[in-house]
Amino acid sequence: MGRYTGPACRLCRQAGEKLFLKGTRCQTPKCAIERRRRAPGDRGGRRRRRPSDYALRLIEKQKLRYSYGLLEGQFVRYLKRAKKESGVTGQRLLQLLERRLDNTVFRLNFAANRTQARQLVTHGHFLVNGRKADIPSILLRQNDVVAWKEASQSRDFVGILADASPQRDLPSWLSLDPNTGEGRVIALPELTDADAAVDTRLIVEFYR
Ligand code: SF4
Repeated sequence: MGRYTGPACRLCRQAGEKLFLKGTRCQTPKCAIERRRRAPGDRGGRRRRRPSDYALRLIEKQKLRYSYGLLEGQFVRYLKRAKKESGVTGQRLLQLLERRLDNTVFRLNFAANRTQARQLVTHGHFLVNGRKADIPSILLRQNDVVAWKEASQSRDFVGILADASPQRDLPSWLSLDPNTGEGRVIALPELTDADAAVDTRLIVEFYR
């Protein structure tokens, strides 16, 4: 499955705000948004117009898509699935995105950002319920257990990653056993558990 391979900071500059796509660097003055808030290609010569309703919805959609590292086609498939499920579409959409294995690895602080989490998953470093799981889009269910593969856990990079990753608070739908290092899905994520600050209503409206 394809993925965006260009500069992450460019996506934040397009969205006009920090999307925290890089890990520790995002918390430092080196962050591209801290240094220049202008969109790529905008040299600041012209006065910026107020964004149209369409642009506002587009930006909101892009923010969510960029945050989870998805291409447009993948994102639309999640939206279609969310629409089919019962409940509020925006909430179901965020729930689906949060339940992805690569996102869960990131949220458990096993990786500094979602791009790194995705790479670790595709390289087969994780087990789900004791079985190898190397597909980032696997959707986790309640009571699923995510753990490092034993052979990976003893490798040097796991310690380096732990030291380099900003330790974020665990969302309420996950728990981490400090003794075994295993993460567990204790509930399905709620709208408030998503770390992307987006208005899902605008995103659903964008695709009407
Ligand atoms: Fe975005 Fe992080 Fe780059 Fe800042 S450092 S622009 S938050 S990816």
